[in-house]
Amino acid sequence: MVTSACQSGLFDGEAAMAETGRIISCEVCTAKYVRTEVLLPIKDVGICECAYCGSELERWHGRLVPTFRLHAPPLPRHSSAA
Ligand SMILES: [Zn+2]
Repeated sequence: MVTSACQSGLFDGEAAMAETGRIISCEVCTAKYVRTEVLLPIKDVGICECAYCGSELERWHGRLVPTFRLHAPPLPRHSSAA
């Protein structure tokens, strides 16, 4: 019996991922991403980085790997020399 309906192919892949994903934002440049998770057949380690500023979004290890799909580009910000 499958307990996770979102991976069973009942829905269109893209729409299902967008609905089940969690919106996170980069703390450095404010770019928003839809966070989803995929299960690897083997354990691995890695770091997901922001596509805009390269800062670390999440460090992962194991078989459950987070993936980030761009949701909204960074907001323009006024940089003041503080
Ligand atoms: Zn960023």
